[in-house]
Amino acid sequence: MKVLKFGGTSVGSAARMKDVAKLICDGEQKIVVLSAMSGTTNSLVEISDYLYKNNRAGALERINALEQKYFDVIDELYSTAEYKAEGKQVLKSHFEYLRSFSKAVFTLFEEKAILAEGELLSTTIFQLYLKEKGENSALLPALDYMRIDKNAEPDTNYIAENLALQLEAQPDKTIYITQGFICRNIYGEIDNLQRGGSDYSASLVGAAVLADEIQIWTDIDGMHNNDPRIVEGTKPVPVLHFEEAAELAYFGAKILHPTCILPAKLNNIPVRLLNTMEPKAAGTLISTQINRGKIEAVAAKDGITAIKIKSGRMLLAHGFLRKVFEIFESYQTSIDMVTTSEVGVSVSIDNAKRLDEIVNDLKKFGTVTVDKDMVIICVVGDMPYENVGFQARVVNALKDIPVRMVSYGGSNYNISFLINATDKKRALNALSESLFN
Ligand code: ADP
Ligand code: ASP
Ligand code: MG
Repeated sequence: MKVLKFGGTSVGSAARMKDVAKLICDGEQKIVVLSAMSGTTNSLVEISDYLYKNNRAGALERINALEQKYFDVIDELYSTAEYKAEGKQVLKSHFEYLRSFSKAVFTLFEEKAILAEGELLSTTIFQLYLKEKGENSALLPALDYMRIDKNAEPDTNYIAENLALQLEAQPDKTIYITQGFICRNIYGEIDNLQRGGSDYSASLVGAAVLADEIQIWTDIDGMHNNDPRIVEGTKPVPVLHFEEAAELAYFGAKILHPTCILPAKLNNIPVRLLNTMEPKAAGTLISTQINRGKIEAVAAKDGITAIKIKSGRMLLAHGFLRKVFEIFESYQTSIDMVTTSEVGVSVSIDNAKRLDEIVNDLKKFGTVTVDKDMVIICVVGDMPYENVGFQARVVNALKDIPVRMVSYGGSNYNISFLINATDKKRALNALSESLFN
């Protein structure tokens, strides 16, 4: 069985939903994971913002505007009066639920329940459309099988067992529709897999059913060799190794959620990135196949802070790095890059929420310097150290750009640079020019 995931743009209007239906209705049994319609999760975040600020009128205004948008979708999507009426009934219950929050206290718990409405709406509306078309389909409620544990990590055994139960309960369906992004946490509360997490849902579902293939359908023809929002003339990469794709996703290639490759890799399930607007395009195949010695792509991760700890006592002082890393651990802050010298260590973090406390504690061990607004530029490909010359090519491309940190050797697949955010565009363009043109 295949698992197909369609992102927000792919289900962003009635017309797009009809295209998706055409793509998936081929008689083959499959699980289809849907995101919320594009813009919906952002609207729900905004509605929550108003409710946090106790501005109920503001929230209601946004809820009503969103509801109107959905009424228009329903009107265009269904052709019979019967289904239009049923669609309206669906919207009524979801939007009444949203409006009910404007009367009560508002916490993170309520916010997560509100955010889940995007995927609950898109899947319900879409499955009703399949029903109107006479397709043999069913809904698999993600809130009944997708669960995270106390560390907010997916509980893979629970997911596999409960998804299997749901499939066994209705074995004769051709198309199973389910929600991306949403899940329950260890307390049974509604939670989610973080923004962009529908990709992660798809690979968790794929791993749970040991799918033949996981397809991520989006608005571009595969993983491009650089960020198409910043560099002109980027090209799709036909083949990537799991490790290469994971590095690109983690280091900023927005087409994939940072952690979504792992479940597929662990179960050796190929992932194909495909374009809903251009279904015939080859896209990108992510598997164990690799192009030996080839630099495949470049990505950038924003919002990075660099921290340097200089200590006269680092030389010969075993245990220094442990003490430094323990401080980051105690503030639940993960480190992306590390570089060391005889007199100090530099690390980069992407979550600066606890920065002041971290810096305060680090001062016990040395002089601390902080650089904010930095970007990690990550060059990805098959680059074992015996393969002489690739560092020179990459470094040469960045010869005019101030580089704060360089990291290579953590894997054969990545060489990373930390630069100022203001140099990001120049660096990405220079790398494309020298590596791919
Ligand atoms: P979806 O809503 O389908 O999940 P996303 O917006 O999350 O889609 O991801 C697709 C977008 O990712 C593309 O439209 C593109 O602008 C952006 N993107 C960033 N880097 C890359 C890259 N290296 N290759 C392809 N797309 C990329
Ligand atoms: N709807 C969620 C978001 O916008 C999840 C996703 O689209 O992947 O972040
Ligand atoms: Mg996405």
